Amino acid sequence: MKFDILTLFTGMFTGPFDESIIKRAKEKKLIDITLHNIRDYALDRHQTADDAPYGGGAGMVMKAEPLAACIQEVKTRQPASTVVLTSPQGRPLTHRVAAELAQKDGLIIVCGRYEGIDERIRTLYAEDDISLGDFVLSGGEIAAMAIVDATTRLIPGALGSCESAGSDSFGDGLLEYPHYTRPPSFMGLDVPEILLSGNHELIRKWRRKESLRRTSRLRPDLLCEVPLNKEDLKLLKEIAQEDAGGV
Ligand code: SAH
Repeated sequence: MKFDILTLFTGMFTGPFDESIIKRAKEKKLIDITLHNIRDYALDRHQTADDAPYGGGAGMVMKAEPLAACIQEVKTRQPASTVVLTSPQGRPLTHRVAAELAQKDGLIIVCGRYEGIDERIRTLYAEDDISLGDFVLSGGEIAAMAIVDATTRLIPGALGSCESAGSDSFGDGLLEYPHYTRPPSFMGLDVPEILLSGNHELIRKWRRKESLRRTSRLRPDLLCEVPLNKEDLKLLKEIAQEDAGGV
């Protein structure tokens, strides 16, 4: 999958894209990331990429011409890629959205700065608009990193054999069960017996139950969207009884 990132701050991406899963995915040629400095497409001597807003007020707006020139050049090279804006007004980045993006040939991600980008760029080029959540970031770079990371994890082969996306939170619509590693007892807290039993069926059932317990406690909204089987309903009943009894 091809990622083209359009930004005024290419330096921000060194580090996050040079470690761990993203680094390996690049080495395995599962993904390819190219950074484009929008300033290189500015027309004037001073390479101006922003200007004062029409109508007055505080802040600056990213100019349309450099952005348009940059998007057009990248799109000519990657015609199958989708132009994605980053903005607090976009659709929230969820597991489902990441899975949808992972199906694309490529993404051309536009990182805004200042008050945002000239609205005509949205009208002319935007095919999608993604938000990290209901808060305002200083720029789209962190959102672009989150999009690349969440999407790459879902590309087959990107995760090593000891990592798995299958049971991760949201993978099956639920929050993931709790994890433990050695030692078996820590500050008076013991690892649940079942996890030490070696009984795979009991462990599977315990994990499913804890996954359901967490989801019903922390994100009951998610439960409405998950297809629950007979076993899940029985486990949820047990959880309700345990919780009522203060377990
Ligand atoms: N004035 C805009 C916010 C601009 S913030 C508004 O009120 O809607 C500057 C840039 O940061 C945006 O263009 C966008 O690229 C990025 N950004 C800010 N918050 C974001 C969020 N929640 N999700 C994704 N990108 C965000």
